Amino acid sequence: MKQYRFVVDYDCNFTEMIGAISHMKDYHACEKGLFQIFEPDCDEDTIQKDLDFIASALPKLRVYGMTGHGALSRETHSIPYRVCSLMFFESSDFVMNIFDCTNMTPAEAGEQYKSTLKELSDVQGILMMSSAFDLCPERFIDKINEYDSKLIVFGALAGTPDMAEDCSKIFFENTIYKRAILTVAFCGKDLHLDYYYNLGFRPLGKELVVTKSNDRGIVYEIDNRPAFDIYRNHLGIGMNGYFFENTSSFPLFMKENGKPLARVALDYHEDGALAFATEIPVGTSVSLSYSTADIILDETSASAIKLDDFAPEAVLIYVCMSRRMLMGDNLAELEFEFYENICPTATWGHGYGEILHAGGLRGFLNASCVVVGMREGPRPEDKDRIRYTPKQTYLTEYVNSKQDGFVPLSIRLVNFLESTTKDLRSAVDQLFREATIDELTQLYNRRALNHFLGQFIEKRGQYTGIAVMMVDIDHFKRVNDTYGHDAGDLVLKSGCSTVKFLFNQNDVLGRWGGEEFVGIKININREQALEFCEELRRSVEKIKFEIVGHITISIGVTMVKEGDNPERVFKRIDEALYEAKETGRNKVVFR
Ligand code: GH3
Ligand code: MG
Ligand code: MG
Repeated sequence: MKQYRFVVDYDCNFTEMIGAISHMKDYHACEKGLFQIFEPDCDEDTIQKDLDFIASALPKLRVYGMTGHGALSRETHSIPYRVCSLMFFESSDFVMNIFDCTNMTPAEAGEQYKSTLKELSDVQGILMMSSAFDLCPERFIDKINEYDSKLIVFGALAGTPDMAEDCSKIFFENTIYKRAILTVAFCGKDLHLDYYYNLGFRPLGKELVVTKSNDRGIVYEIDNRPAFDIYRNHLGIGMNGYFFENTSSFPLFMKENGKPLARVALDYHEDGALAFATEIPVGTSVSLSYSTADIILDETSASAIKLDDFAPEAVLIYVCMSRRMLMGDNLAELEFEFYENICPTATWGHGYGEILHAGGLRGFLNASCVVVGMREGPRPEDKDRIRYTPKQTYLTEYVNSKQDGFVPLSIRLVNFLESTTKDLRSAVDQLFREATIDELTQLYNRRALNHFLGQFIEKRGQYTGIAVMMVDIDHFKRVNDTYGHDAGDLVLKSGCSTVKFLFNQNDVLGRWGGEEFVGIKININREQALEFCEELRRSVEKIKFEIVGHITISIGVTMVKEGDNPERVFKRIDEALYEAKETGRNKVVFR
């Protein structure tokens, strides 16, 4: 595999680039070459003219590309150059597809792509680009995930010079699309792909929960307050024309399958809602986040070391403009330099969002840097690797500044905020535990049970059914009278630690008081609830407790109904339990 990079109007002009490619040995020897364009401008006529020129002058090139992102602040610049990557493959192949989404949803396009993928063999990764900010291409990636969850998907969403107007475009051969998704599937038994994801942003301050949002990226409320308050209260900013500049270095931080990711707010509404480029579901825990050049560059350098170990022959980088805003232009360039020092043809571009579906990430990213290295054949021995003289522009300066022991004020401040956040969070966790956990059994206490039941009833529509049960030990007074209170305590403790495993992670089990327990099971129907209670009853009956031996329990159970409130539900299970006791104990009664 070979990669070439052209930074048009920096290394050469457009015509010179075309001339250079047409004289390449590799171009003449190949059947086809893969040509990626990051276009800084969105002027349709210029792009069309140049695409037509490439098509006629270099017919063997398969061309795709996207428009990049403009500068986000007064202090930083966007990349004013057209950055192109040209790749020639030897033992592998690539297959390009385009899905015009003018009259098709990304999910429908993804469904079509699934059948395309079935025709391909040895797909090692899929590059993807999309245009139109409101397209939400994650649904397309979901379909690829359905087809093969292990397939790596990477790329970017096309950008626009001015955030206020969506001029994003992608190109496929010599056609320009304003609302579409393109894919390049890289195939070959001998082809190796490795990916690197850097975020660098770290959570700061209190963790909050999204309490109202829709599936088009609008977050109305966080912690039941207008979403904008998160910025008003923590950054002290108002609603004005500098919203994006003021907030984009403080994206919302969240986790997806345990992986950190950020969401940059794009705009606000007068009612306090915030607009994002993708859905942030209700229930998502978020906090503000911040980073520094040092944190970002340390992560980058760690990734670069791993990339070096992979020994790539080609590198494609998709990176967020907000990093440039945070670090400034020079250090943002340095982020590329780390990779260029390993693969001098590494090609980068800024889009409107990065894409990476790998290692637990669903696909859509913000504020991050996604790097993909490719290689055909096995990793060469170190002695056979071609080494380049590293570019040293900002790198030396950066390394020196790190070595002299001085820590800049901004970094000391972030460290201070981070450690304060950690202290506060552990204090809050401790208080939360004390307020909600029963000491003897380590189950939820009555206060927590009341809270959870209220929440479940409120969100009843999200579940197929909610069963609530009250469990009471039979003749427990006798146990205490016969074996002593401590032996009774032991029964409560070990009994609870045994039966709690019958409940799922999203269910709730707590101690209502004394030797009475309440369980809440979700996504269950009446028959399943009765079956579950029987299983619970039988399991307890089978336990042989130390000293005390066997005990039995009685259970009252009900299903949450339309118009229920916690009081009504508790009244029903209480009555059911009473009936169980009255009619012989060691049984389950439904009401
Ligand atoms: P039944 O429920 O079958 O009608 O009879 P019972 O004897 O279990 O009656 P009840 O549920 O009213 O009993 C409550 C008894 O549970 C009173 C007390 O002896 C015992 N108990 C309550 N809390 C604790 C506790 O924390 N530890 C111990 N060891 N016993 C407790
Ligand atoms: Mg009782
Ligand atoms: Mg009892």
